[in-house]
Amino acid sequence: MTDSNDKRPDRDAALEAMRVLLAWIGEDPERKGLLKTPDRVLKSFDDWFSGYGQDPAAILGSSFPEADGYQEMVVLTDIDFESHCEHHMAPFIGRAHVAYIPEKRVVGISKIVRVVNAYAKRLQVQEKLTQEIAQCINEVLQPAGVAVVLEAKHECMTTRGVYKPNIKMTTSAMFGSFLTNDATRSEFLSMIQNSKAD
Ligand SMILES: [Zn+2]
Repeated sequence: MTDSNDKRPDRDAALEAMRVLLAWIGEDPERKGLLKTPDRVLKSFDDWFSGYGQDPAAILGSSFPEADGYQEMVVLTDIDFESHCEHHMAPFIGRAHVAYIPEKRVVGISKIVRVVNAYAKRLQVQEKLTQEIAQCINEVLQPAGVAVVLEAKHECMTTRGVYKPNIKMTTSAMFGSFLTNDATRSEFLSMIQNSKAD
């Protein structure tokens, strides 16, 4: 956790809060089947919100010396991600597509995936998540361009609220040549389309 969280309550307080919420929905927190539920929920939170303990810029810190000098587009399509919306704490689940054109440094592709995860495993807004991933890659790798497209289904719209089970949201963030060069942008977008045909 970062220093902005020195108000973080201890685990016992969080367990008690979960018991309060169980009572709030009409349950009996002392019911046998629910005794371990607060603990399980907190452990799930450890996973779902593990991004707060990660520094995405540091993940991109080390480069791939053998690939330095490569200056063509690197494209990763269909990176599955799970996040939670900061308005409802409901899951939003989808796929990220990330491209960059190296200028100085190339990184291992697993690092790009880890950057997506580090931002996704927090309370998020899809637009902000998209922007943060692109910005981090842009600032740390200083590529000729970076593009990020996210497609996701938000459970706050599919299982509640407007109840539209098939609605999907698409967001994008682009920097450098993906913004200025139509051909570069089209090449990336057609790769996303083609990956869907597979
Ligand atoms: Zn929501």
